[in-house]
Amino acid sequence: MTMQGSKIAIVGGGIGGLAAALALRAKGAEVCVFEQAETLSEVGAGLQVSPNGMRVLEALGVAHALTDRSMQARAISLRDFRRSNEVLRIDLKALPEDESYWFVHRADLISVLAEAAENAGVILRTSQRVTGVIGAAGTGLAFADGSDFVCDLAVGADGINSVLRPVLNGVSAPFFTGQVAWRAVIDNTICHPPHARVHMGPGRHVVTYPLRDGRALNVVAVQERREWAAEGWNHPDDPINLKRAFAGFDGEVHQILAQVQKPILWGLFRHPVAAVWAQEGVVLLGDAAHPTLPFLAQGANMALEDAWVLADALDAPGTLADRLASYQARRLPRVKRVVGAASANARNYHLKPGPVRIAAHIGLRAVGRLKPD
Ligand code: FAD
Repeated sequence: MTMQGSKIAIVGGGIGGLAAALALRAKGAEVCVFEQAETLSEVGAGLQVSPNGMRVLEALGVAHALTDRSMQARAISLRDFRRSNEVLRIDLKALPEDESYWFVHRADLISVLAEAAENAGVILRTSQRVTGVIGAAGTGLAFADGSDFVCDLAVGADGINSVLRPVLNGVSAPFFTGQVAWRAVIDNTICHPPHARVHMGPGRHVVTYPLRDGRALNVVAVQERREWAAEGWNHPDDPINLKRAFAGFDGEVHQILAQVQKPILWGLFRHPVAAVWAQEGVVLLGDAAHPTLPFLAQGANMALEDAWVLADALDAPGTLADRLASYQARRLPRVKRVVGAASANARNYHLKPGPVRIAAHIGLRAVGRLKPD
């Protein structure tokens, strides 16, 4: 199979699926994206695109369209929960000129990618729920309405509840991390600067950053908990529960949480990184291969990197099996490192008052004073 004219079906019109569609189309493939949702519009809230993700968006030719609708991040500020005093500031203004970090609304990133994909000749089909593959080696997709689609390669970009992942890896049960997160977008009435503020308390933290032209504020509040909460992006909760969970945090956090009317609550689960990412005919990317906890803001960035590397690996000489194996080999070590670091960060944010927390904060302040060589 050469890329020119090969027929590629992508399951999932999320960030990874749309980025892969653009990258594969640029290599000459005929690409069709199948998305289960009725539309590709207003879903989700804020996410962070770091310089590694921006590099991919630049190469796909969509960076300007996105930055026009987004807010450039100037700092990441780690704060103590009681008085909001700063423990560490990562100054993003110090990044080299060609590297930038952005606060983005997920819906904006999806529409920029979808628009560019359609203009490039990618076929986007919504209301199409894939139920599995057809053919022993996965030569096509089966849909909930009984129809099917024959292709040379099926790309599983279908997120945390992927239907293609079990085709390659069997069913694996994720485990509850003992953490839940509320998410909301509110008006930015406190004139929050273009910083990501992480308010760190014992067993809990709150992250805030502005979106779009700065009038909106993205809020994510994480709490350790014994009880299970459903995994997924669409479970509304009572705002009282959110406010109660963060009693004891300083006035700025209260003022922000007081504005939240309709928080979405989701349980944070750990899934093992898939052992098998590809077999002839089927390949995984993004959350379908490696769901990542949100504590390093790398879920979307890893999906973008996967998309770029997949197209690059498929465009090389060799058998399809070799090219797919090269994609997995290029991605796996990096993804494992990032997924591990994201999981470890929750512990760092949630230290209880006492010597360990004091030592950690002194250490963080010292890191903040370090000057590059
Ligand atoms: P996703 O972006 O999750 O995309 C997967 C896509 O596959 C979805 O569009 C889904 O509808 C589709 N799909 C799943 N199963 C099927 C099927 N059987 N047939 C056809 N289509 C299917 N991250 C944040 O940091 N902030 C957010 O606010 C945020 N909101 C989100 C809202 C939604 C509705 C979703 C689905 C994800 C959200 N995420 C959010 C997750 C974030 O987008 C991903 O973690 C990350 O970008 C990796 O992208 P992905 O393409 O691998 O997966």
